[in-house]
Amino acid sequence: MSLIVVGTMAFDNIETPFGKSDRIVGGAATYIAWSACNFTRPINQISVVGGDFPEEEMQALALRGVNLEGVQVRKNEKSFFWAGRYHMDMNTRDTLDTQLNVLADFNPIVPESYQGSEFLMLGNLVPSVQLSVIRQLKSRPNLIVLDTMNFWMETAMPDLEKVLREIDVLLINDSEARQLSAQYSLVKAAREIMKMGPKYLVIKKGEHGALLFYEDQVFVAPALPLEDVFDPTGAGDTFAGGFMGHIARTRDVSFENMKTAVIVGSAMASFCVEKFGNTRLKELDREQIDSRIRQFVELVNFDIQLV
Ligand code: AMP
Repeated sequence: MSLIVVGTMAFDNIETPFGKSDRIVGGAATYIAWSACNFTRPINQISVVGGDFPEEEMQALALRGVNLEGVQVRKNEKSFFWAGRYHMDMNTRDTLDTQLNVLADFNPIVPESYQGSEFLMLGNLVPSVQLSVIRQLKSRPNLIVLDTMNFWMETAMPDLEKVLREIDVLLINDSEARQLSAQYSLVKAAREIMKMGPKYLVIKKGEHGALLFYEDQVFVAPALPLEDVFDPTGAGDTFAGGFMGHIARTRDVSFENMKTAVIVGSAMASFCVEKFGNTRLKELDREQIDSRIRQFVELVNFDIQLV
């Protein structure tokens, strides 16, 4: 089993009502890799960083089975930078700054050794780059999953529409689903979005869980009620890493297995928010992950007798 992960590797400035961080390591592909490596290896990473990206982070990822051959390092340039501020509810945030830097003219090159990978996770980044990776693959992966955000809907919609036609599963949050479909009802939004290409759609609703849509079926997963949420940054990417990691590990792309993948993704996301940045993800072991997944099972386990 092998998984290609594409996305940003970046620096973030994060402000929450409870604290502030200055230039910590972030980026969609960083979170996805930290999450997915608990389920499947190698992770064939594709990204671009500047000379400022910490070597220790690269080494730590490599030790977790992340293959960095497809990560371009531009020594004299700066990594992608994003700054965001969360509102009191910790579910909504404002982007304060997005500096594309190395991402502005990123031309991804899929290494020969990545060819034949069975699964492709297109994390959040320029839609034309996501498309370019699909086009470079000589054989189509068994499942192509895509994440995106409002920034790309606003700046690169025609390319986003093209890539949506090529994928199997789209992961987005509720406000992005509404923006993409111009529908307020998430059921109507899902119907509209699935007409754009993806057969499966996951709508993440932060502390309210996630919905998985397929044809006229829907599966609902809860979020773990947590006493304290320190930093929701990367929760969506961590979800994506758990979702895709589970599917790559089981090599089963059925709707039934996707339901389990949504639970695994939700469990991983619940860890991410417990500390700033990717700190919590770096501490995890298999036992903690399994016990959290069991907590999710308990959360929604009930018997009902209808007469
Ligand atoms: P999430 O909280 O899961 O939506 O992801 C947050 C991560 O996405 C941060 O670590 C940022 O570096 C990264 N990010 C923010 N804006 C963008 C963007 N426009 N494209 C790609 N990655 C981004």
